[in-house]
Amino acid sequence: MATAEITVDTMDAARAAILAWRVDPDTAPACPLCGTAGLAVSDHSARPHTEWYRLVCRACGLDQMLAVPLGAAVPGAEG
Ligand SMILES: [Zn+2]
Repeated sequence: MATAEITVDTMDAARAAILAWRVDPDTAPACPLCGTAGLAVSDHSARPHTEWYRLVCRACGLDQMLAVPLGAAVPGAEG
């Protein structure tokens, strides 16, 4: 892989890293791609039903914005 990029195969790991960061923002989670601790996560949320997070890893060059739909995580909350 020439470009560090989160795909459908690594999305679960990326979401897990974001969740871990939300629970404990003082501890940088491991990179979902290369596993190196020190992943930088920043909240860029701007829309009411979707949160945007930027994941940056200096070890493998990952620098990507990810959209995390909140509705999917709350069953029965649609509408
Ligand atoms: Zn990495």
